Amino acid sequence: MDLKLKDKVVIVTGGGKGIGEGFSLSLAREGAIPVIFSRSSITDEFKKKIEAITTNYDFYQIDLCNTDEIKPLVDKVAKTRGGIYGIVNNAGVNDNKAIETTSWQDFEKSIHGNLTHYYEVVRSALPYLKESKGSIVNISSKTALTGQGKTSAYAAAKGGILGLTREWAVAFIHYDIRVNAIVVSECFTPLYANWIKTFGDEAHQKARLKVITDKIPLENRMTTPEEIGDTGVFVLSPKSSHTTGQWIFVDGGYVHLDRALV
Ligand code: NAP
Repeated sequence: MDLKLKDKVVIVTGGGKGIGEGFSLSLAREGAIPVIFSRSSITDEFKKKIEAITTNYDFYQIDLCNTDEIKPLVDKVAKTRGGIYGIVNNAGVNDNKAIETTSWQDFEKSIHGNLTHYYEVVRSALPYLKESKGSIVNISSKTALTGQGKTSAYAAAKGGILGLTREWAVAFIHYDIRVNAIVVSECFTPLYANWIKTFGDEAHQKARLKVITDKIPLENRMTTPEEIGDTGVFVLSPKSSHTTGQWIFVDGGYVHLDRALV
């Protein structure tokens, strides 16, 4: 299927690693132009992977917590590339700010790092999205719906992202800009690998992973970044032309299916 993404410019925040990498590679395979915004430099390994598909991509180093730097960068992308079709709001981190040990100041800091830049990237890109009748995909997390017990700020930010997905779908309906969210549950990425390391040595990590994957109904395995990227890129694409305001779960049935039966 031709997703009609050829030469379309798509900003992917955190697009050089993990789930963002899944999006960037999938966009590249579709002939789109991924524009990666990321805090750390892209690795040689990532460069090798994307350049095996295309050299037509951009990378800009930015810490998205520096909110005032976002609009000038988005304007620069639009000017350099002649417009913007899509946004994949993906950068974020589950920073485990539990209510019992987190001040309101640290709560707000975490919200800033997980939610505010989603808003500012979209606010900055809106004039260009209006021109292109573009599309937005926001990455959220199961924690917004299931909780996790020790991550108040992250859960609030991810819930906020679901709320903004509905709000923007309505706000932009007359501009023909579609807005959807992809909800992720368990996807093995560098972020996830770091989290699993907190469970101790390799044997403990393996044991913890097994507890988790045993509860993922479809095939008892983690979702891959490629699976999330491919579904997300379809939803972002003009081929998904009558889907907006949706929360799409790419999670092997983790959130909705009856796990007591599996
Ligand atoms: P990851 O492996 O850490 O990749 C995230 C990328 O985003 C990294 O390149 C990171 O940069 C970048 N980033 C984070 N904060 C940034 C900032 N302030 N400015 C610029 N770049 C920033 O994480 P991931 O697992 O792929 O997660 C991607 C998204 O999926 C996140 O929103 C996460 O909450 C969500 N999610 C993931 C899972 C999962 O199971 N993995 C589950 C639910 C939701 P650095 O390399 O500098 O850190």
